[in-house]
Amino acid sequence: MSSNITDKALNIPSFIVMDVLERARVLEGQGIDIIHMEVGEPDFDTPDCIVQAGCQALKEGKTHYTHSQGLLLLREAICEDYHKRYGVSFDPDQVIVTMGTSPALLMLFAAMLDKDDEIIMTNPYYPCYANMVKFLGGVPRLVPVTPEESFHLTPEKIKPFLSRKTKAILINSPANPTGMCMDPEVMEEIVGIGVPIISDEIYHGIRYEGKDHSFLEFQQEAFVINGFSKRYAMTGWRLGYLVVPKNWIRPLQKMQQNFFISASDFAQWAGLAALREAQPDVDRMVQTYRERRDYLYTALNNLGFKIYDLPQGAFYLFADCREFSENAYTFAFDILEHAHVGITPGIDFGPMGEGYVRFSYANSLENIKEGVKRIREYLKNS
Ligand code: PMP
Repeated sequence: MSSNITDKALNIPSFIVMDVLERARVLEGQGIDIIHMEVGEPDFDTPDCIVQAGCQALKEGKTHYTHSQGLLLLREAICEDYHKRYGVSFDPDQVIVTMGTSPALLMLFAAMLDKDDEIIMTNPYYPCYANMVKFLGGVPRLVPVTPEESFHLTPEKIKPFLSRKTKAILINSPANPTGMCMDPEVMEEIVGIGVPIISDEIYHGIRYEGKDHSFLEFQQEAFVINGFSKRYAMTGWRLGYLVVPKNWIRPLQKMQQNFFISASDFAQWAGLAALREAQPDVDRMVQTYRERRDYLYTALNNLGFKIYDLPQGAFYLFADCREFSENAYTFAFDILEHAHVGITPGIDFGPMGEGYVRFSYANSLENIKEGVKRIREYLKNS
């Protein structure tokens, strides 16, 4: 007796950055030193005040299922945080705490999409968006954005992609993989199109110029996705959340109950400490990212990579590598094999990423400098 693996399971694309990382780990297993600039994960340990709160929670027996929507205290703290940062108000009952933003995205898409329904997103995009939408039978409608226009999305660019099947416009600002941020005037114009917005605000707080704005400032019914992974260096705690209009809560809550039951109890207590106490740690991390960004931007441009704009947020540089190779996928793996530096091929982020590679500067300045040195040597000799 045997079961068939579904086509959608067989055909879901790999997350190429993980392929790079896994190959890097094999090389490391052979004793080779690798500089990691591929993964989108803060290199900092979780700030001490958060770790303390997590340990305390474990000791106090916070090791059980929680309310499926998450601890009320945490949901209230999320409301306060949004009120303080953006002046917006929503009810703790509109929040569902999840195990990272990834399940939040998956549940939201699953609740929103029937077969062939469409989600509009930029190209390049965070790969899991398109992969999840397709897995669920939906269609990602990809709006090309170019470095010449600072990867900016505008209502004019979106309009030709609207159809009867459009369910939402998905925005990620600060953006992965480009680090670009959307101006509040443009956010308002995009809301003016009259389509629901899904705003992935996971990189909020990692901002070097300007100020973050939530889409909730412009569209009360916007769907917000956020999490603790990036701002608070908490990737391994697996904690995120969704903010949705009230009539969406019950279905999403039932999905959460069936699929995941609840987010981790002690991680939620740690998340509470993050919101209440960790801003000084975030400020310190952002300052360090800024120094690395400034160094890497100049160093890569000097090597012959083309990066038009200095990114204003997140911790990525999306660099044109066509000066060196037409095939960025091969180029990235060659750099890994021969220069021992991990970087991500741009094609991971959609067709517009061809000819580009993404550098993550979530690594120490010392390692970043060593990475640049190795790439310089490699380019000289190839
Ligand atoms: N959205 C974006 C844009 C991301 O870059 C990531 C992580 N790379 C996620 C969502 C998922 O993060 P997590 O599940 O750790 O919250």
